[in-house]
Amino acid sequence: MLSSIKGRSVIVTGASKGIGKGIARVFAKHGANVMIVARGEEAAAGTVEEIKAGGGSAAYCLADVSQWDDVQRMVARTEEAFGGLDILCSNAGIFPQAKILDMAPEDWDTVLDTNLKSTFLSVKAAVPAMRKRGKGRVVITSSITGPITGYPGWTHYGASKAGQLGFIRTAAIELAKYNITVNAVLPGNIMTEGLQGLGQDYLDTMAASIPLKRLGTVEDIGNTALFLASDEAGYITGQTIVVDGGQILPESLEALQEA
Ligand code: NAP
Repeated sequence: MLSSIKGRSVIVTGASKGIGKGIARVFAKHGANVMIVARGEEAAAGTVEEIKAGGGSAAYCLADVSQWDDVQRMVARTEEAFGGLDILCSNAGIFPQAKILDMAPEDWDTVLDTNLKSTFLSVKAAVPAMRKRGKGRVVITSSITGPITGYPGWTHYGASKAGQLGFIRTAAIELAKYNITVNAVLPGNIMTEGLQGLGQDYLDTMAASIPLKRLGTVEDIGNTALFLASDEAGYITGQTIVVDGGQILPESLEALQEA
């Protein structure tokens, strides 16, 4: 049983759908005040309504996390709404597919700006607010794709997710003096709106390649983020947790079939 995070103030970027929404629901269920961040208003407002209907506390802020002005506004709005900032879950991300020969240079920039630059901008904006509290927690949603595995069409995506891990290792050292920890969750294939967009064949093939024989749920990631944000995880920084049902483990198809 973890100590209560009741009353803590949490920003979750990309929380109108998918993994971010799952993280937001888990934190709200445990009594935190959650700021839902996304660009689209309808889904963001819907997530807030859903959390409030379940007895939780939430508000939303429309922001493009690749834009410095938007990210600063996201932190200001959180301090205004909840009286401060304790936890940042930098989760917003996109995963369009394009092989190298078909990829336009601007496709590369869009993915790197949305997935990696956003991580730097969100942390940079959050740190002054966390320093006012005397402590803070940063939990980043990376991926197995990039840091550990590869998949055709995702050179830009993989580079952005591996880049997040390079970022956390130095950020953890720089921010330790403020009692701020910086860690990352590496999801495998998690059933979200974004993943569903890749098609049923992709989902079926992925489920078959996972030792636990199912895709992950958004709560699987939310619970891991909750642990990394807890008091009990206070001595863990600059680290990663893979949450993938064992997907990265088999050396071959045979290793999976023989088990
Ligand atoms: P999703 O279902 O497509 O949801 C993405 C969320 O991010 C939405 O709320 C979206 O809202 C928001 N978003 C996208 N671009 C944004 C921007 N520029 N500024 C602010 N918000 C933005 O995606 P998901 O599958 O949950 O993925 C979430 C994160 O998990 C990503 O970082 C992804 O790389 C990572 N991940 C996912 C999986 C998986 O299997 N699903 C596996 C490994 C890692 P708006 O479009 O309204 O802005």
